[in-house]
Amino acid sequence: MTTCDYGERVMLYDLIIGVNMRRVDNIQVFRRNHYYLLFDKKSKKSFTLGEKEYVFWESLDGRDVNEIKSSYSDYEKRELMSVFNKIGLLNNHTGHRKIEGRYKKAIWCPEFFLDKNIWITKIYWWIMIVGFVAIIPIFFLCDYNQMRRIITEYVSVKTGVVGVVFVIIALSFHELSHALIAKKSGAVVPEIGIMINFILPCAYTTVCDYGNIKTLEKKIWVALAGIGGNILLIAVGGYIFLFANNENIKFFCIEFIFANIIPIFGNINFFYRDDAYVIIESLLGIRGLKERAKKYLITNLKNCKTQKYKDENYLTKLVLIIYAVGAYINELLFPFIILFLLLSTYVRI
Ligand SMILES: [Zn+2]
Repeated sequence: MTTCDYGERVMLYDLIIGVNMRRVDNIQVFRRNHYYLLFDKKSKKSFTLGEKEYVFWESLDGRDVNEIKSSYSDYEKRELMSVFNKIGLLNNHTGHRKIEGRYKKAIWCPEFFLDKNIWITKIYWWIMIVGFVAIIPIFFLCDYNQMRRIITEYVSVKTGVVGVVFVIIALSFHELSHALIAKKSGAVVPEIGIMINFILPCAYTTVCDYGNIKTLEKKIWVALAGIGGNILLIAVGGYIFLFANNENIKFFCIEFIFANIIPIFGNINFFYRDDAYVIIESLLGIRGLKERAKKYLITNLKNCKTQKYKDENYLTKLVLIIYAVGAYINELLFPFIILFLLLSTYVRI
């Protein structure tokens, strides 16, 4: 899941630029309750614009700005244009419109379909909850010795290829699960598509307006939904494993379960900007936690009396320092942990 900033809010800057500006294309506009959400399909960024600001931006089609009738004064119009230019909503050469979706190809905008069929998301939420509960008995009922025996007997290049397909399915379902719960929670899902993840093709979901989801609980559910989807698939694979008579089928069930464990482990390290990070960020209520924590630690190490963060309370400061230290340790140690795991499996085989 990629959360699209928190919707960059347009503010006035003290900059004057020329007239005759044209708005960029490839912007998808979503009408929300009190504002407009603009999603840039190229840069994958989202922007929140008020009604008046949106109407003005919409009218920027290359004609002389002075001709545009709006409730803004000429000065305000220019100020707004400078902001639009700065954040990449105007078509010129100075605005930053970094293309982020280079390895991403959007295929479907689920927003309007799911908006009309919101019941699908509600039903899916309940299925996911069932998955959380249903997985528990599997741990007790599984014959782990039998599992180990089947793995050693059936593992081969051929079954390995099937494993790769299962990983793609697991990652795609993970993303779809985010999309469904995000829609249920009131966020905007402008696109589902295909991207290259390391070397594997898999699905991705862009969730916009995450910051405007009303309750903390709903925010956490959106971030948790990907893992929830994988747990659901593990439960399905687990029960087929338990009741299947054929060892071939049992082996593919084990593969399917492992394929679904990969995205779960890939998302639980909250020092990386994945699902667990979004959860921690929401729980602590600190936006841009990673940058802020690192910056805070560095400025503190350089200068003991920091003026900038004077207003933060003691607890926030402590959390920032702990997180920053953890993040640095994680960055230093993580490659070694992976290397260790790889070596230990290699040696065992
Ligand atoms: Zn995820």
